[in-house]
Amino acid sequence: MTANLLDYDLEGLALFCEQLGEKRFRATQLFRWIHQKGASQFDAMTDLAKSLREKMAGCAAVTPLKLISQHESRDGTIKWLFDVGAGDAVEAVFIPETDRGTLCISSQAGCAVGCRFCSTGHQGFSRNLTAGEIIAQLWFAEHFLRKHLARDERIISNVVMMGMGEPLQNYDALVQALRVMLDDHGYGLSRRRVTVSTSGVVPMMDRLGADCPVALAVSLHAPQDLLRDHLVPLNKKYPLAELMQACVRYLDHAPRDFITFEYCMLEGVNDSPELARDLLDLLRASGGGLAWCKLNLIPFNPFPASGLKRSSPERVTAFAKVLTDAGLVTTIRKTRGDDIDAACGQLAGDVKDRTQVVVRMNKQRSAMAISTPILAPLANTALGVE
Ligand code: SAH
Ligand code: SF4
Repeated sequence: MTANLLDYDLEGLALFCEQLGEKRFRATQLFRWIHQKGASQFDAMTDLAKSLREKMAGCAAVTPLKLISQHESRDGTIKWLFDVGAGDAVEAVFIPETDRGTLCISSQAGCAVGCRFCSTGHQGFSRNLTAGEIIAQLWFAEHFLRKHLARDERIISNVVMMGMGEPLQNYDALVQALRVMLDDHGYGLSRRRVTVSTSGVVPMMDRLGADCPVALAVSLHAPQDLLRDHLVPLNKKYPLAELMQACVRYLDHAPRDFITFEYCMLEGVNDSPELARDLLDLLRASGGGLAWCKLNLIPFNPFPASGLKRSSPERVTAFAKVLTDAGLVTTIRKTRGDDIDAACGQLAGDVKDRTQVVVRMNKQRSAMAISTPILAPLANTALGVE
């Protein structure tokens, strides 16, 4: 069987070389050729002995993802759609800014969490990506952009695991890929500039802190369990009190002294000033005041089946004012790439739902008796979808 060298972190590649009877330092050379120079053909790796190149070509390959399409937004954002086989496709998005280049990448084909407001969640879950498939998105984007922009220096300075999928439900592959991103012989990214975003898989947050601490974003979206249960169904398993304690524990390992909380603004659902005050209470109740939290308000990016609406700019500003007046660092995320459906939560790729998440979501939705006023707007969602 041909090994995909994108699957290995440096330690794994060293073991692979040893098994072939080669010295470990050959792995460093190979790793640098692949990740720093973007080489995929062993023939191009000119400082490796011809015999080693031939040996490698016989049992290994650098296997990129198949590109299906590329779309460039008016604002410079680029979205790539990759074929990952068996009818599944995933997306990656490059977001250029003056002082940095951010790549948003996918960790799964689909997602099993099934958040109400997320296009990926509505698609259901097909499978986990391998470490090689996760890193292949960065490998492709970095080297494509260098060629495209004719620059021989690093273009991507930040990676956010905010594409399709729940990264902490694909833990082993995630950590393997993170190690390649952080390795000085790989992409040499700073831990502070690699962000894992999670809907709150509590045990895996603890493991990430111990195994490979990077910046953490937690998708909160509601300060009360009843509402969060409905928006982020994983909340029923890991309710807010447990989630907040896990956030505080993560701070002991985090490369930054804060955690970013994400809050998708849904008109009439979670955007009232009262809920902003509840949010402050929740964060304060976790101890240590508010200095360890940053809040990122994301205007909801609509997609046809959601039946939900984006909060008006006035509602967003009023919500943000309650928070900033209390001293919570709050930003309102600029929507990028929405003309090419590359904004947060619009990444739907195209996956075959193999676990019937969508069927379960719909059953649960129709079975749910929604009585509280907070949830009332969501009742319309149930009617509006399918
Ligand atoms: N599964 C992880 C990471 C991928 S989602 C998570 O949920 O954190 C990345 C971010 O996009 C999350 O904060 C998510 O809540 C947000 N998001 C999802 N759908 C969205 C939508 N339609 N509009 C705006 N943000 C959305
Ligand atoms: Fe999955 Fe994140 Fe979308 Fe929720 S918001 S369905 S966890 S990708």
